[in-house]
Amino acid sequence: MKLRQATAAAAVVLALTATATACGSSDKDSDSGGGKKITIGIKFDQPGLGLKEPDGSYSGFDVDVAKYVAQKLGYKENQITWKETQSADRETSLQRGDVDFIAASYSITDERKAKVDFAGPYLLAHQDLLIRADGNITKGEDLNGKKLCSVTGSTSAQNVKKTIAPKAQLKQYGAYSECLSGLQNKVVDALTTDDDILAGYASQKQYKGKFKLAGLKLSNENYGIGVKKGDDKLVGKINKALEQMVSDGSWEKAVKANFGPASYKNEPAPKIGDIVK
Ligand code: GLU
Repeated sequence: MKLRQATAAAAVVLALTATATACGSSDKDSDSGGGKKITIGIKFDQPGLGLKEPDGSYSGFDVDVAKYVAQKLGYKENQITWKETQSADRETSLQRGDVDFIAASYSITDERKAKVDFAGPYLLAHQDLLIRADGNITKGEDLNGKKLCSVTGSTSAQNVKKTIAPKAQLKQYGAYSECLSGLQNKVVDALTTDDDILAGYASQKQYKGKFKLAGLKLSNENYGIGVKKGDDKLVGKINKALEQMVSDGSWEKAVKANFGPASYKNEPAPKIGDIVK
């Protein structure tokens, strides 16, 4: 009996909410229950950028940027569905409509721009190497003949093959975290990707003192928010949100909170549309 009353009460509340939403909202995305949702692609295994925590929450700079943007688009945090988008899957996820946008250490490149569109950039990072604490790789060419680990579909792997060290023995996984045990156990000599990602790994408790960054700025990685090709309207809205995030101080706050623990020295906030080649 109690349960039935509660259900009936809930139904009344739902009906009222539905009416209120239908009358009061001008947002065409809202459905009658006020339960609109947005699906955002992030990384799940990159501390400081996009990380799924053991308690099921998500942390990192990309996550904070995504939350800020989503809020400006009219979505509360509980209306966000987070989805893992590994490096090689990002373009297809957007093309298929699996995600509404992607904030996942996603560099803006001409090749990718043929398939998807980007808002931003919102961060400038640089490719670097993570090596063992006693390692002595000091330049990109040192990698020729060495065993190197990176990720399929990343600019990091591509740059190694094209320019940095075409003769390196490159092992490619689906995610950077898969390279860490190999680096520790000397199966590979280095892990290469963006310096902000590497700094996040190096500062993790279980790796403290074991790894170091080589400190080479091997490339410029301009992080953008990926959206489906042709959605100019969404790109415009996201760019506006990113500008606000910088001007109201939220960008700097997010940088400090997420990169501070890894002592990562980030570049200043880029201007929208300003790609560093
Ligand atoms: N920023 C680079 C890229 O978009 C490397 C990091 C990553 O794979 O997410 O490919």
